[in-house]
Amino acid sequence: MCPSCNGDLAPATNGHVNGTNGHVEDHTPHNPRRQPFASVGDYLSNVSNFKIIESTLREGEQFANAFFDTETKVKIAKALDAFGVEYIELTSPASSEQSRKDCEIICNLGLKASRYIAFYWLCALKKQTFVLTWASEQAKILTHVRCHMDDARIAVETGVDGLDIVIGTSPQLMQHSHGKSMDYIRDTAIEVIQYVKSKGLECRFSSEDSFRSDLVDLLNIYSIVSKVGVDRVGIADTVGCASPRQVYDLVRTLRGVVHCDIETHFHNDTGCAIANAYCALEAGATHVDTSVLGIGERNGITPLGGFVARMLVADRDYVKSKYDLTKLKSIEDLVAGAVEINVPFNNYITGFCAFTHKAGIHAKAILANPTTYEIINPADFGMTRYVHFASRLTGWNAIKSRVNQLGLEMTDSQIKSCTRHLTIEDTDTIINAFYENLYADHGGEKPLLDDMTAAEKKRFAQKEAELSHEPESQRLDEVVQQQTDVLATNGISSHEGVNGMNGETAAT
Ligand SMILES: [Zn+2]
Repeated sequence: MCPSCNGDLAPATNGHVNGTNGHVEDHTPHNPRRQPFASVGDYLSNVSNFKIIESTLREGEQFANAFFDTETKVKIAKALDAFGVEYIELTSPASSEQSRKDCEIICNLGLKASRYIAFYWLCALKKQTFVLTWASEQAKILTHVRCHMDDARIAVETGVDGLDIVIGTSPQLMQHSHGKSMDYIRDTAIEVIQYVKSKGLECRFSSEDSFRSDLVDLLNIYSIVSKVGVDRVGIADTVGCASPRQVYDLVRTLRGVVHCDIETHFHNDTGCAIANAYCALEAGATHVDTSVLGIGERNGITPLGGFVARMLVADRDYVKSKYDLTKLKSIEDLVAGAVEINVPFNNYITGFCAFTHKAGIHAKAILANPTTYEIINPADFGMTRYVHFASRLTGWNAIKSRVNQLGLEMTDSQIKSCTRHLTIEDTDTIINAFYENLYADHGGEKPLLDDMTAAEKKRFAQKEAELSHEPESQRLDEVVQQQTDVLATNGISSHEGVNGMNGETAAT
Protein backbone atom coordinates (compact mmCIF):
# COMPACT_ATOMS: atom_id res chain seq x y z
CA MET A 1 0.00 0.00 0.00
CA CYS A 2 1.07 3.53 -0.54
CA PRO A 3 2.97 4.73 2.51
CA SER A 4 0.92 7.88 2.52
CA CYS A 5 -2.37 6.08 2.63
CA ASN A 6 -4.15 3.89 5.06
CA GLY A 7 -5.69 1.21 2.98
CA ASP A 8 -7.98 3.00 0.55
CA LEU A 9 -5.78 2.07 -2.35
CA ALA A 10 -6.68 1.73 -5.99
CA PRO A 11 -6.12 -1.69 -7.62
CA ALA A 12 -2.62 -2.64 -8.63
CA THR A 13 -2.19 -1.57 -12.24
CA ASN A 14 1.06 -3.56 -12.55
CA GLY A 15 2.49 -1.10 -14.99
CA HIS A 16 0.56 -2.05 -18.10
CA VAL A 17 -0.65 0.76 -20.26
CA ASN A 18 -3.16 -0.12 -22.95
CA GLY A 19 -1.63 -3.48 -23.61
CA THR A 20 1.97 -2.34 -23.67
CA ASN A 21 4.79 -2.93 -21.24
CA GLY A 22 5.11 0.74 -20.37
CA HIS A 23 5.10 2.00 -16.82
CA VAL A 24 2.14 3.65 -15.23
CA GLU A 25 3.25 7.03 -14.00
CA ASP A 26 0.07 8.18 -12.33
CA HIS A 27 -0.95 6.97 -8.92
CA THR A 28 -4.58 6.07 -9.36
CA PRO A 29 -6.85 8.22 -7.20
CA HIS A 30 -8.22 6.60 -4.11
CA ASN A 31 -11.73 5.31 -4.31
CA PRO A 32 -12.56 2.66 -1.71
CA ARG A 33 -15.92 1.87 -3.28
CA ARG A 34 -14.09 0.58 -6.37
CA GLN A 35 -11.67 -1.53 -4.33
CA PRO A 36 -13.50 -4.36 -2.60
CA PHE A 37 -10.33 -6.48 -2.53
CA ALA A 38 -7.83 -3.78 -1.58
CA SER A 39 -5.47 -4.36 1.34
CA VAL A 40 -7.04 -3.94 4.73
CA GLY A 41 -6.05 -0.58 6.14
CA ASP A 42 -4.12 -1.02 9.35
CA TYR A 43 -1.82 1.35 11.19
CA LEU A 44 0.33 -1.65 12.15
CA SER A 45 1.00 -2.73 8.59
CA ASN A 46 4.54 -2.64 7.23
CA VAL A 47 3.62 -3.90 3.77
CA SER A 48 5.20 -0.71 2.44
CA ASN A 49 8.02 -0.55 4.95
CA PHE A 50 10.02 -3.76 5.30
CA LYS A 51 13.54 -5.12 4.93
CA ILE A 52 14.77 -8.41 3.48
CA ILE A 53 17.26 -10.55 5.37
CA GLU A 54 18.56 -12.81 2.61
CA SER A 55 19.64 -16.14 4.03
CA THR A 56 20.73 -18.16 0.99
CA LEU A 57 24.23 -18.24 2.50
CA ARG A 58 22.93 -19.48 5.86
CA GLU A 59 19.55 -21.21 5.60
CA GLY A 60 20.35 -22.05 1.97
CA GLU A 61 23.55 -23.77 3.03
CA GLN A 62 21.36 -26.22 4.93
CA PHE A 63 19.66 -27.29 1.68
CA ALA A 64 20.34 -30.95 0.99
CA ASN A 65 22.25 -30.25 -2.22
CA ALA A 66 24.12 -27.09 -1.18
CA PHE A 67 27.89 -27.24 -0.84
CA PHE A 68 29.04 -23.68 -1.50
CA ASP A 69 32.75 -23.05 -1.89
CA THR A 70 34.21 -19.64 -1.12
CA GLU A 71 34.11 -18.44 -4.72
CA THR A 72 30.44 -19.35 -5.05
CA LYS A 73 29.57 -17.65 -1.76
CA VAL A 74 31.25 -14.45 -2.95
CA LYS A 75 29.36 -14.56 -6.26
CA ILE A 76 26.04 -15.05 -4.50
CA ALA A 77 26.77 -12.31 -1.96
CA LYS A 78 27.66 -9.83 -4.72
CA ALA A 79 24.55 -10.78 -6.71
CA LEU A 80 22.28 -10.33 -3.70
CA ASP A 81 23.89 -6.99 -2.92
CA ALA A 82 23.37 -5.84 -6.51
CA PHE A 83 19.73 -6.94 -6.29
CA GLY A 84 19.40 -4.63 -3.30
CA VAL A 85 18.60 -6.80 -0.29
CA GLU A 86 19.19 -4.95 2.96
CA TYR A 87 20.91 -7.82 4.79
CA ILE A 88 22.88 -10.92 3.87
CA GLU A 89 22.95 -13.61 6.54
CA LEU A 90 25.89 -16.03 6.74
CA THR A 91 26.43 -19.37 8.41
CA SER A 92 27.86 -19.17 11.92
CA PRO A 93 31.64 -18.69 11.86
CA ALA A 94 31.70 -20.97 14.92
CA SER A 95 30.45 -23.91 12.87
CA SER A 96 33.77 -24.51 11.05
CA GLU A 97 37.09 -22.89 10.28
CA GLN A 98 36.09 -22.52 6.61
CA SER A 99 32.84 -20.80 7.57
CA ARG A 100 34.81 -18.34 9.70
CA LYS A 101 37.21 -17.56 6.84
CA ASP A 102 34.34 -17.18 4.34
CA CYS A 103 32.57 -14.86 6.75
CA GLU A 104 35.63 -12.61 6.97
CA ILE A 105 36.09 -12.61 3.19
CA ILE A 106 32.49 -11.55 2.54
CA CYS A 107 32.69 -8.89 5.25
CA ASN A 108 35.73 -7.45 3.45
CA LEU A 109 34.10 -7.34 0.01
CA GLY A 110 32.91 -3.80 0.52
CA LEU A 111 29.54 -4.63 -0.97
CA LYS A 112 27.76 -1.65 -2.22
CA ALA A 113 24.50 -1.83 -4.11
CA SER A 114 23.18 1.24 -5.83
CA ARG A 115 19.55 1.31 -5.09
CA TYR A 116 16.87 3.86 -4.86
CA ILE A 117 15.66 5.06 -1.54
CA ALA A 118 12.32 6.51 -2.40
CA PHE A 119 10.55 9.18 -0.48
CA TYR A 120 6.89 9.45 -1.16
CA TRP A 121 4.88 12.54 -0.88
CA LEU A 122 1.19 12.60 -1.37
CA CYS A 123 -0.01 15.76 -2.98
CA ALA A 124 -3.35 16.33 -1.33
CA LEU A 125 -4.74 18.29 -4.24
CA LYS A 126 -3.55 16.26 -7.22
CA LYS A 127 -3.50 12.89 -5.42
CA GLN A 128 -0.29 11.84 -7.09
CA THR A 129 2.85 10.21 -5.75
CA PHE A 130 6.32 11.47 -6.57
CA VAL A 131 9.72 9.91 -6.12
CA LEU A 132 11.80 12.80 -4.84
CA THR A 133 15.34 11.52 -4.37
CA TRP A 134 17.58 8.50 -4.13
CA ALA A 135 20.69 7.31 -2.40
CA SER A 136 22.81 4.18 -2.26
CA GLU A 137 23.41 1.78 0.60
CA GLN A 138 25.18 -1.49 1.04
CA ALA A 139 23.87 -4.77 2.26
CA LYS A 140 24.75 -5.38 5.88
CA ILE A 141 26.35 -8.67 6.76
CA LEU A 142 24.84 -10.73 9.55
CA THR A 143 25.76 -14.09 10.94
CA HIS A 144 23.45 -16.55 12.61
CA VAL A 145 24.79 -17.99 15.87
CA ARG A 146 23.61 -19.95 18.85
CA CYS A 147 22.73 -17.99 21.96
CA HIS A 148 26.09 -18.72 23.55
CA MET A 149 29.00 -16.47 24.54
CA ASP A 150 31.62 -18.65 22.82
CA ASP A 151 29.84 -18.36 19.44
CA ALA A 152 29.21 -14.66 19.95
CA ARG A 153 32.90 -13.92 20.63
CA ILE A 154 34.00 -15.71 17.45
CA ALA A 155 31.35 -13.92 15.39
CA VAL A 156 32.15 -10.36 16.49
CA GLU A 157 35.79 -10.86 15.45
CA THR A 158 34.88 -11.54 11.80
CA GLY A 159 33.82 -8.00 10.99
CA VAL A 160 30.08 -8.62 10.60
CA ASP A 161 27.59 -5.80 11.03
CA GLY A 162 25.39 -7.81 13.36
CA LEU A 163 24.58 -11.10 15.03
CA ASP A 164 21.34 -13.06 14.77
CA ILE A 165 21.27 -15.13 17.92
CA VAL A 166 18.82 -18.00 18.28
CA ILE A 167 17.74 -20.61 20.80
CA GLY A 168 14.96 -23.17 20.84
CA THR A 169 11.98 -22.40 23.06
CA SER A 170 9.45 -25.10 22.20
CA PRO A 171 9.00 -28.00 24.65
CA GLN A 172 10.29 -30.34 21.95
CA LEU A 173 13.56 -28.45 21.52
CA MET A 174 14.03 -27.61 25.18
CA GLN A 175 13.71 -31.28 26.08
CA HIS A 176 15.36 -33.03 23.14
CA SER A 177 17.79 -30.42 21.74
CA HIS A 178 19.64 -28.12 24.13
CA GLY A 179 17.97 -29.29 27.35
CA LYS A 180 18.02 -25.82 28.94
CA SER A 181 15.31 -24.12 31.01
CA MET A 182 13.64 -20.77 30.28
CA ASP A 183 15.63 -19.26 33.20
CA TYR A 184 18.87 -20.33 31.51
CA ILE A 185 17.65 -18.97 28.15
CA ARG A 186 16.77 -15.64 29.75
CA ASP A 187 20.10 -15.22 31.57
CA THR A 188 22.22 -16.27 28.59
CA ALA A 189 20.27 -14.08 26.19
CA ILE A 190 20.82 -11.03 28.36
CA GLU A 191 24.56 -11.75 28.62
CA VAL A 192 25.03 -12.28 24.87
CA ILE A 193 22.92 -9.30 23.84
CA GLN A 194 24.76 -6.96 26.19
CA TYR A 195 28.09 -8.26 24.88
CA VAL A 196 27.13 -7.79 21.20
CA LYS A 197 25.75 -4.32 21.82
CA SER A 198 28.92 -3.38 23.74
CA LYS A 199 30.79 -4.09 20.48
CA GLY A 200 28.59 -1.64 18.61
CA LEU A 201 26.92 -4.33 16.48
CA GLU A 202 23.30 -5.01 15.62
CA CYS A 203 21.72 -7.81 17.59
CA ARG A 204 18.64 -9.92 17.00
CA PHE A 205 17.29 -12.45 19.48
CA SER A 206 15.05 -15.16 18.07
CA SER A 207 13.26 -18.09 19.52
CA GLU A 208 13.31 -21.28 17.49
CA ASP A 209 10.11 -23.21 16.78
CA SER A 210 8.16 -20.20 18.00
CA PHE A 211 4.73 -21.45 17.01
CA ARG A 212 4.99 -24.55 19.20
CA SER A 213 6.40 -22.59 22.13
CA ASP A 214 4.44 -21.53 25.16
CA LEU A 215 2.98 -18.09 24.44
CA VAL A 216 3.56 -16.78 27.95
CA ASP A 217 7.20 -17.92 27.85
CA LEU A 218 7.66 -16.29 24.44
CA LEU A 219 6.19 -12.93 25.33
CA ASN A 220 8.12 -12.91 28.59
CA ILE A 221 11.53 -13.53 27.00
CA TYR A 222 10.84 -11.09 24.14
CA SER A 223 9.81 -8.41 26.61
CA ILE A 224 13.01 -8.91 28.60
CA VAL A 225 15.39 -8.79 25.62
CA SER A 226 13.57 -5.75 24.24
CA LYS A 227 14.24 -3.90 27.49
CA VAL A 228 17.89 -5.02 27.39
CA GLY A 229 18.27 -3.20 24.08
CA VAL A 230 18.11 -5.85 21.35
CA ASP A 231 17.54 -4.38 17.88
CA ARG A 232 15.15 -7.07 16.69
CA VAL A 233 13.27 -10.01 18.08
CA GLY A 234 12.71 -12.94 15.77
CA ILE A 235 9.80 -15.31 15.26
CA ALA A 236 10.68 -18.54 13.51
CA ASP A 237 8.24 -21.11 12.15
CA THR A 238 11.00 -23.69 12.19
CA VAL A 239 8.78 -26.64 11.29
CA GLY A 240 6.46 -24.86 8.86
CA CYS A 241 3.32 -25.48 10.89
CA ALA A 242 1.90 -21.95 11.10
CA SER A 243 -1.04 -20.60 9.13
CA PRO A 244 -1.36 -16.94 8.05
CA ARG A 245 -3.98 -16.25 10.69
CA GLN A 246 -1.82 -17.74 13.46
CA VAL A 247 1.08 -15.60 12.22
CA TYR A 248 -1.02 -12.48 12.21
CA ASP A 249 -2.26 -13.11 15.74
CA LEU A 250 1.19 -13.80 17.18
CA VAL A 251 2.95 -10.89 15.49
CA ARG A 252 0.19 -8.48 16.37
CA THR A 253 0.32 -9.60 19.99
CA LEU A 254 4.11 -9.31 20.04
CA ARG A 255 3.90 -5.85 18.48
CA GLY A 256 2.16 -4.72 21.63
CA VAL A 257 4.87 -6.19 23.87
CA VAL A 258 8.15 -5.01 22.32
CA HIS A 259 9.32 -1.70 20.95
CA CYS A 260 12.10 -3.07 18.74
CA ASP A 261 11.86 -4.44 15.19
CA ILE A 262 10.32 -7.85 14.52
CA GLU A 263 11.99 -10.34 12.17
CA THR A 264 10.15 -13.36 10.78
CA HIS A 265 11.34 -16.68 9.38
CA PHE A 266 8.92 -19.10 7.76
CA HIS A 267 9.51 -22.63 6.56
CA ASN A 268 7.43 -23.91 3.70
CA ASP A 269 6.48 -27.44 4.77
CA THR A 270 2.77 -26.70 4.32
CA GLY A 271 3.07 -24.15 1.52
CA CYS A 272 2.37 -21.04 3.61
CA ALA A 273 5.81 -19.40 3.68
CA ILE A 274 5.03 -16.45 1.41
CA ALA A 275 1.52 -15.90 2.78
CA ASN A 276 2.87 -16.06 6.33
CA ALA A 277 5.55 -13.49 5.54
CA TYR A 278 2.95 -11.17 4.05
CA CYS A 279 0.60 -11.55 7.01
CA ALA A 280 3.49 -10.93 9.39
CA LEU A 281 4.15 -7.59 7.70
CA GLU A 282 0.46 -6.73 7.84
CA ALA A 283 0.58 -7.39 11.58
CA GLY A 284 3.59 -5.14 12.15
CA ALA A 285 6.68 -7.26 11.47
CA THR A 286 9.56 -5.31 9.93
CA HIS A 287 11.98 -7.89 8.52
CA VAL A 288 11.45 -11.04 6.42
CA ASP A 289 13.95 -13.87 5.92
CA THR A 290 14.21 -15.24 2.38
CA SER A 291 16.45 -17.48 0.33
CA VAL A 292 16.92 -17.71 -3.42
CA LEU A 293 14.46 -20.28 -4.81
CA GLY A 294 13.50 -20.88 -1.17
CA ILE A 295 16.32 -23.35 -0.59
CA GLY A 296 16.92 -24.37 2.99
CA GLU A 297 16.37 -27.11 5.53
CA ARG A 298 13.91 -29.73 4.19
CA ASN A 299 11.85 -27.93 1.49
CA GLY A 300 13.08 -24.53 2.54
CA ILE A 301 11.73 -21.10 3.45
CA THR A 302 10.09 -18.04 1.89
CA PRO A 303 11.61 -17.71 -1.61
CA LEU A 304 13.07 -14.33 -2.54
CA GLY A 305 11.37 -14.28 -5.95
CA GLY A 306 7.94 -15.27 -4.71
CA PHE A 307 8.16 -12.81 -1.84
CA VAL A 308 9.01 -9.82 -4.02
CA ALA A 309 6.27 -10.88 -6.44
CA ARG A 310 3.77 -10.79 -3.57
CA MET A 311 5.05 -7.44 -2.36
CA LEU A 312 5.15 -5.95 -5.87
CA VAL A 313 1.43 -6.54 -6.21
CA ALA A 314 0.90 -4.85 -2.84
CA ASP A 315 3.05 -1.77 -3.54
CA ARG A 316 4.76 -1.70 -6.92
CA ASP A 317 6.41 1.69 -6.57
CA TYR A 318 7.92 0.85 -3.18
CA VAL A 319 9.33 -2.52 -4.26
CA LYS A 320 10.73 -1.18 -7.53
CA SER A 321 12.38 1.68 -5.66
CA LYS A 322 14.28 -0.75 -3.40
CA TYR A 323 15.23 -3.72 -5.55
CA ASP A 324 16.65 -4.26 -9.03
CA LEU A 325 14.08 -6.84 -10.04
CA THR A 326 15.68 -7.45 -13.43
CA LYS A 327 18.51 -9.25 -11.62
CA LEU A 328 16.22 -11.89 -10.10
CA LYS A 329 16.53 -14.42 -12.92
CA SER A 330 20.31 -14.28 -13.05
CA ILE A 331 20.52 -14.77 -9.26
CA GLU A 332 18.19 -17.75 -9.43
CA ASP A 333 20.15 -19.23 -12.32
CA LEU A 334 23.36 -18.72 -10.34
CA VAL A 335 22.05 -20.48 -7.24
CA ALA A 336 20.25 -23.22 -9.20
CA GLY A 337 23.51 -23.98 -10.96
CA ALA A 338 25.46 -23.96 -7.70
CA VAL A 339 23.15 -26.50 -6.05
CA GLU A 340 22.57 -28.43 -9.29
CA ILE A 341 18.80 -28.12 -9.55
CA ASN A 342 16.45 -26.83 -12.24
CA VAL A 343 14.28 -23.80 -11.66
CA PRO A 344 10.80 -25.33 -11.20
CA PHE A 345 8.43 -24.98 -14.17
CA ASN A 346 5.92 -23.13 -12.00
CA ASN A 347 8.38 -20.93 -10.19
CA TYR A 348 7.22 -17.44 -9.36
CA ILE A 349 8.21 -14.99 -12.12
CA THR A 350 10.97 -17.06 -13.69
CA GLY A 351 9.33 -20.47 -14.19
CA PHE A 352 9.15 -21.18 -17.91
CA CYS A 353 5.35 -20.92 -17.91
CA ALA A 354 5.02 -18.04 -15.43
CA PHE A 355 3.96 -15.69 -18.22
CA THR A 356 2.72 -18.24 -20.77
CA HIS A 357 -0.85 -18.03 -22.03
CA LYS A 358 -2.46 -20.90 -23.83
CA ALA A 359 -6.25 -20.92 -23.92
CA GLY A 360 -7.70 -18.99 -26.87
CA ILE A 361 -9.89 -16.68 -24.80
CA HIS A 362 -6.89 -15.83 -22.61
CA ALA A 363 -4.64 -15.28 -25.61
CA LYS A 364 -7.07 -12.90 -27.27
CA ALA A 365 -7.54 -10.86 -24.10
CA ILE A 366 -3.88 -10.80 -23.13
CA LEU A 367 -2.90 -9.53 -26.55
CA ALA A 368 -5.53 -6.81 -26.33
CA ASN A 369 -4.57 -5.80 -22.78
CA PRO A 370 -2.12 -7.80 -20.60
CA THR A 371 -3.82 -6.77 -17.35
CA THR A 372 -6.73 -9.06 -18.23
CA TYR A 373 -4.79 -12.15 -17.15
CA GLU A 374 -1.56 -10.81 -15.62
CA ILE A 375 -1.33 -9.18 -12.20
CA ILE A 376 2.43 -8.78 -12.63
CA ASN A 377 4.07 -7.05 -15.56
CA PRO A 378 6.85 -9.40 -16.77
CA ALA A 379 8.79 -6.38 -17.98
CA ASP A 380 9.31 -5.33 -14.34
CA PHE A 381 11.56 -8.39 -14.03
CA GLY A 382 13.07 -8.11 -17.49
CA MET A 383 10.91 -11.05 -18.59
CA THR A 384 8.58 -11.38 -21.57
CA ARG A 385 5.23 -13.08 -21.91
CA TYR A 386 4.71 -15.95 -24.30
CA VAL A 387 1.48 -16.78 -26.04
CA HIS A 388 1.27 -20.50 -26.67
CA PHE A 389 0.29 -20.48 -30.31
CA ALA A 390 0.81 -24.12 -31.29
CA SER A 391 -2.36 -25.36 -29.68
CA ARG A 392 -5.86 -26.17 -30.83
CA LEU A 393 -7.00 -24.15 -27.81
CA THR A 394 -5.51 -21.02 -29.27
CA GLY A 395 -7.19 -18.75 -31.78
CA TRP A 396 -5.94 -16.54 -34.57
CA ASN A 397 -4.96 -13.77 -32.17
CA ALA A 398 -2.17 -15.95 -30.89
CA ILE A 399 -1.07 -16.70 -34.44
CA LYS A 400 -0.97 -12.96 -35.04
CA SER A 401 1.32 -12.58 -32.05
CA ARG A 402 3.61 -15.30 -33.37
CA VAL A 403 3.67 -13.72 -36.83
CA ASN A 404 4.83 -10.53 -35.19
CA GLN A 405 7.45 -12.42 -33.14
CA LEU A 406 8.76 -13.88 -36.39
CA GLY A 407 9.04 -10.39 -37.86
CA LEU A 408 6.51 -10.99 -40.63
CA GLU A 409 3.99 -8.45 -41.83
CA MET A 410 0.52 -9.80 -42.59
CA THR A 411 -2.99 -8.36 -42.46
CA ASP A 412 -5.59 -9.74 -40.06
CA SER A 413 -7.48 -11.40 -42.90
CA GLN A 414 -4.29 -13.03 -44.13
CA ILE A 415 -3.49 -14.30 -40.63
CA LYS A 416 -7.01 -15.72 -40.24
CA SER A 417 -6.61 -17.47 -43.57
CA CYS A 418 -3.21 -18.77 -42.48
CA THR A 419 -4.61 -20.00 -39.14
CA ARG A 420 -7.02 -22.41 -40.85
CA HIS A 421 -4.04 -24.28 -42.26
CA LEU A 422 -2.23 -24.74 -38.94
CA THR A 423 -1.79 -27.90 -36.92
CA ILE A 424 -0.24 -28.21 -33.50
CA GLU A 425 3.11 -29.38 -34.81
CA ASP A 426 5.57 -27.37 -36.85
CA THR A 427 3.61 -24.15 -36.64
CA ASP A 428 6.62 -21.96 -37.19
CA THR A 429 7.52 -23.89 -40.29
CA ILE A 430 4.01 -23.63 -41.67
CA ILE A 431 3.83 -19.89 -41.06
CA ASN A 432 7.13 -19.35 -42.81
CA ALA A 433 6.18 -21.61 -45.70
CA PHE A 434 2.86 -19.85 -46.06
CA TYR A 435 4.61 -16.52 -46.05
CA GLU A 436 7.16 -17.52 -48.64
CA ASN A 437 4.43 -19.02 -50.82
CA LEU A 438 2.99 -15.57 -51.23
CA TYR A 439 5.77 -14.70 -53.63
CA ALA A 440 6.69 -18.09 -54.98
CA ASP A 441 6.49 -18.82 -58.68
CA HIS A 442 3.09 -20.49 -58.75
CA GLY A 443 3.20 -21.45 -62.41
CA GLY A 444 -0.29 -20.16 -62.98
CA GLU A 445 -1.72 -21.43 -59.68
CA LYS A 446 -3.67 -19.05 -57.48
CA PRO A 447 -1.66 -17.65 -54.52
CA LEU A 448 -2.83 -18.72 -51.06
CA LEU A 449 -3.30 -15.07 -50.20
CA ASP A 450 -4.97 -13.13 -52.96
CA ASP A 451 -6.06 -10.02 -51.11
CA MET A 452 -2.75 -8.25 -50.68
CA THR A 453 -2.42 -4.61 -51.49
CA ALA A 454 0.43 -3.27 -53.57
CA ALA A 455 2.04 -1.80 -50.47
CA GLU A 456 1.84 -5.16 -48.66
CA LYS A 457 3.36 -6.94 -51.63
CA LYS A 458 6.23 -4.49 -51.60
CA ARG A 459 6.88 -5.02 -47.87
CA PHE A 460 6.76 -8.79 -48.26
CA ALA A 461 9.27 -8.56 -51.07
CA GLN A 462 11.58 -6.53 -48.87
CA LYS A 463 11.22 -8.98 -45.98
CA GLU A 464 11.83 -11.92 -48.29
CA ALA A 465 14.98 -10.27 -49.62
CA GLU A 466 16.23 -9.74 -46.05
CA LEU A 467 15.57 -13.36 -45.12
CA SER A 468 17.32 -14.67 -48.22
CA HIS A 469 20.54 -13.00 -47.11
CA GLU A 470 20.60 -14.69 -43.70
CA PRO A 471 23.22 -17.48 -43.54
CA GLU A 472 20.74 -20.00 -42.16
CA SER A 473 18.34 -19.30 -44.99
CA GLN A 474 21.14 -19.72 -47.54
CA ARG A 475 22.16 -23.05 -46.02
CA LEU A 476 18.57 -24.28 -46.23
CA ASP A 477 18.40 -23.21 -49.86
CA GLU A 478 21.55 -25.22 -50.56
CA VAL A 479 20.10 -28.31 -48.87
CA VAL A 480 16.87 -28.03 -50.84
CA GLN A 481 18.82 -27.58 -54.07
CA GLN A 482 20.93 -30.69 -53.37
CA GLN A 483 17.81 -32.76 -52.71
CA THR A 484 16.21 -31.44 -55.87
CA ASP A 485 19.31 -32.34 -57.86
CA VAL A 486 19.22 -35.90 -56.50
CA LEU A 487 15.57 -36.29 -57.45
CA ALA A 488 16.23 -34.84 -60.91
CA THR A 489 19.06 -37.34 -61.41
CA ASN A 490 16.54 -40.12 -60.71
CA GLY A 491 14.15 -38.68 -63.26
CA ILE A 492 11.35 -37.43 -60.96
CA SER A 493 10.25 -33.99 -59.85
CA SER A 494 10.32 -32.99 -56.18
CA HIS A 495 6.51 -32.87 -56.10
CA GLU A 496 6.28 -36.39 -57.52
CA GLY A 497 8.92 -37.52 -55.07
CA VAL A 498 6.90 -36.42 -52.07
CA ASN A 499 3.74 -38.09 -53.37
CA GLY A 500 5.65 -41.22 -54.08
CA MET A 501 6.99 -41.42 -50.54
CA ASN A 502 3.54 -40.88 -49.08
CA GLY A 503 2.07 -43.61 -51.21
CA GLU A 504 4.86 -45.99 -50.19
CA THR A 505 4.29 -45.29 -46.51
CA ALA A 506 0.55 -45.82 -46.81
CA ALA A 507 1.09 -49.19 -48.49
CA THR A 508 3.45 -50.51 -45.82
ZN1 LIG B 1 15.12 -22.02 9.09
